[in-house]
Parts: sequence; structure tokens; C-alpha cells
Amino acid sequence: MARCAAHDPRAIIGAMPDMSDNSRDALVVDAFERLGVPLTRQRRRVWEYFSTCARASTIAEAAAAVGSDGVGQATVYRTVALLNEMGLLVRVQTSHPEACYTAIGVGHTHPLVCHRCRKVVQFDGEGDLSVLERHLEATTGFSVYGHHLEVYGVCPACVAQAGTSVAGEAGEP
Ligand SMILES: [Zn+2]
Ligand SMILES: [Zn+2]
Repeated sequence: MARCAAHDPRAIIGAMPDMSDNSRDALVVDAFERLGVPLTRQRRRVWEYFSTCARASTIAEAAAAVGSDGVGQATVYRTVALLNEMGLLVRVQTSHPEACYTAIGVGHTHPLVCHRCRKVVQFDGEGDLSVLERHLEATTGFSVYGHHLEVYGVCPACVAQAGTSVAGEAGEP
């Protein structure tokens, strides 16, 4: 099975000990069931690619990786749009000129993204902005039900390579 070139499960499991493949699988199965949309083999394969990739990926990269599993490029495009609409894939900003996507984590998590190499670490955000949300409710009268948050930075490997010409490369650090 073709995998993301940067696949490194330790990067994800290390940050989120409860993020097993099973709970991630349940996440997508539940979401499709709630929406009444069939979770086809192709859609599952595209999700699998993004949810096991340690870096934010472009649609072209996903298509190249799952092409050998019989998932066509048009299907990848449509599936990424669908998963993004469902909130299962998040579009993040990186130095790459094309749109890059990363899978959400299980529970209340947010992505910490390396702007340079697109490495993503999901962190637990439970209760993170509750003080701000209560403050906003008190000052604006809004009933706040949630937030969307991404955090950007440069990972240790890219900091170590600072000054070299690897910016934007998705290769090994
Ligand atoms: Zn990096
Ligand atoms: Zn949060």
C-alpha cells in the first residue's frame, strides 16, 4: 500500500497517546453515517492517506500516493473537498504554493504546522480557549459554540537547517 513519503506514526502517536488507528477510523465512519453518505473504498483510502501522513499534503501528492490503489485523481479531488466540508480535513497554510490539507485528530485537537516542511503535530486543545469564549459571550452577547484554530511555526529539524535552501521541500528533515 502506498504511503505518505513522510509517514512517521511516532510523530502522531507521541503527541496524542489515545490516537489509535481504530479511534481515527471510528471518527470517519461516524461522520459519514451521520451525513448519510456512503464511505466507499476510495473515500476510505483517501482518508487513510491523510490520517496517517505526518505532513500536510497537497491533493496532487495524495493522488500520486493512492493512484496505485485504483483511486483516480478526480475521485481524490472530490473526496478531499468532501472531507474538508465535513470538517475531517483542515486546509493549512504552508510555504507550499498549493493548498495543503491535514486530517483532524480524535477529540478536541488542533494542528501545529511547520510552515517550512509541513510537518504536523496534533495537540490536545480541550478547554484551551474557554476563557476567551466566555469573555466574548459576556462582551458581545453571542452564544459561542466553538472555534477553529491552527498554530504555525518552524519545527526543530527546520530550525537546525535554517540558512540552507530547503524551504518548501517536503523531503526528510
Ligand atoms: Zn519543519
Ligand atoms: Zn481548541
